[in-house]
Amino acid sequence: MGTVCRLCRREGVKLFLKGERCNTEKCAVDRRAYPPGDRPKRFRRKPSGYSVQLREKQKTKRIYGIREKQFKNYFKKAERRPGITGEILLQYLERRLDNVVYHLGFAPSRKAARQLVNHGHFLVNEKKVNIPSYLLEKGDVIGVREKSQGLLVIQTTSEKKDEKTLPSWLLLEKNVWKGRVLELPARDAIGLPVEEKLIVELYSK
Ligand code: SF4
Repeated sequence: MGTVCRLCRREGVKLFLKGERCNTEKCAVDRRAYPPGDRPKRFRRKPSGYSVQLREKQKTKRIYGIREKQFKNYFKKAERRPGITGEILLQYLERRLDNVVYHLGFAPSRKAARQLVNHGHFLVNEKKVNIPSYLLEKGDVIGVREKSQGLLVIQTTSEKKDEKTLPSWLLLEKNVWKGRVLELPARDAIGLPVEEKLIVELYSK
């Protein structure tokens, strides 16, 4: 079933860590809708407030594949900005280059997107950027490098990309291997099953 699928089962939701498999009936969350190591009908205690907050943070970290230190740094940055801390935190996560590459359909998962960015397959405003955490701004144009357009993983994922699933803050021009940040993502444009206020409560203790 795979180690990463256990992460989804632990959180009780699909985290979409395995690319195409996540949308098939093979998805472990669909097949075994209970935490790993547990039996479906086993009695489970009601989780405490702390554990609910912790799970929300873990879930969010796992969706984006980010380590604790980096996640906390995003939180600290978000806290310093005026506005709703939880929403700004999610906005930082969404603006990462690897996440946008995934949304644009140039990689089957965020993990794969990170690897492809690391290997220098993408441009931002016509310049090569190989930093997955690079934060995109409004108006930035993300492109696949010409010599990378023939890569099988990029090609097949891009072909299958359903543009209806593209977040409203991004524009995709598949025919020229490009995407654009139309605006910074508002909370309702970030379709994540996450209650970010629980994360803020956890870190504010
Ligand atoms: Fe595995 Fe993807 Fe389903 Fe998660 S969403 S359990 S990674 S197949």
